[in-house]
Amino acid sequence: MKQKKSVWDHADTALKLWILAMLLCIVSKFFEGTPVQWLLILSGVVIAVAAVVYRFQKVRCPHCASHMTAAKGKPKRCPDCGGKLL
Ligand SMILES: [Zn+2]
Repeated sequence: MKQKKSVWDHADTALKLWILAMLLCIVSKFFEGTPVQWLLILSGVVIAVAAVVYRFQKVRCPHCASHMTAAKGKPKRCPDCGGKLL
């Protein structure tokens, strides 16, 4: 049986995408002055935007659709409606 991804699994995925985007931008420095540099930066920007959009759409309360942040840890219940975050 496939377990449903939790809000925080989605947050982790978005974070990994974000890190990948940053890595692409860092690696692009090694290709300075070549078209590869711009290709890497462009991919980095696209992935960064995708990470933000993904987080915005997926990391929200399944009960009240309020947006979640992990700034104060990863609460098990929604701070807005008290619903379980599974
Ligand atoms: Zn809620």
